[in-house]
Amino acid sequence: MAQISRREAFGCMAGGVGMALLTGYSASAHARSAPVTRSVRPTVTDPAAIAAESVPETPSARLAASGLDQVVPLGAGMTAKTVENTVAIGSRPAAVVDTIASLADEFGAQAAGLVGRAEAHPILMLVPSTAREFQVWLDAGAASLTEVAGVTVTPLSPQLPWVVLNPNIDAATTTAAGGHHLSFEHTIAHEVFHAVTLPSGDQTAPRWLIEGAAEWASTALTGTVERKPARRPYLPTETQLYAPATGYDAYFFAEWFVAYLMKRDLGAGIDFYNKAITSPARETSPLARKYFGRSLEQLKRQWLADYDAETAGLD
Ligand SMILES: [Zn+2]
Repeated sequence: MAQISRREAFGCMAGGVGMALLTGYSASAHARSAPVTRSVRPTVTDPAAIAAESVPETPSARLAASGLDQVVPLGAGMTAKTVENTVAIGSRPAAVVDTIASLADEFGAQAAGLVGRAEAHPILMLVPSTAREFQVWLDAGAASLTEVAGVTVTPLSPQLPWVVLNPNIDAATTTAAGGHHLSFEHTIAHEVFHAVTLPSGDQTAPRWLIEGAAEWASTALTGTVERKPARRPYLPTETQLYAPATGYDAYFFAEWFVAYLMKRDLGAGIDFYNKAITSPARETSPLARKYFGRSLEQLKRQWLADYDAETAGLD
């Protein structure tokens, strides 16, 4: 029904397919020390989101608000759970759907607070039990995303975004993907941060910022500790983020740079993120100059210089 080109889908975790990537990794000490909440100071106004405030949080209405009423069934074998501002719908056991609804709602409120906004619309979490459902509920045409831990879809306005979780992510253990273990909570927090903060439709911000900020937020919200790659960081390209061979390191490094910016000046970092994700321009250096007084290249050089200074003399 829908064309993949009309929206963005953020697959998150290390996997073997195009959109794949890590959501489970990250976490350097400075990222984890970031505050989880801050005062509400709206810097972005999304008319579509405001218009959506009146959307009822019943499962059927919430599905319809994302254009999924003909895609995701409600009825036998399905569980729908509403917790405050979140609706979770799925075919996994009711306890799993309930847990995901509660976690997503908690993380959604915290994610909005982290970027100084109020939650604009009810979060929709889809919880399929089969690979087939996972694929269909993405409603993303021919895209093959079966190996990602979770996906956030940002449709064109006025449709609302939604999250689809891989059937294999498991609260009891964690899921091994691409040779790495993914944290259940980390995956949910990462996707919810996308769903709560990203604008409708195609995303113009650089992927290192979109994914790095989601990782940074997820780390702050969950306190997840992950393995730090033993190599000098770099600011990853979209290709490096979405290639299975480089994705783990690339997601970690994207988070690391975002955390560096936030640590440098949290208010500036939040403003930079909010502006960059809503700016029609793909060039973020002018925004870096505006909020940090330096070009992105200068900030990147300083980040690497700090790394080199910290690791000098270490093996
Ligand atoms: Zn992501």
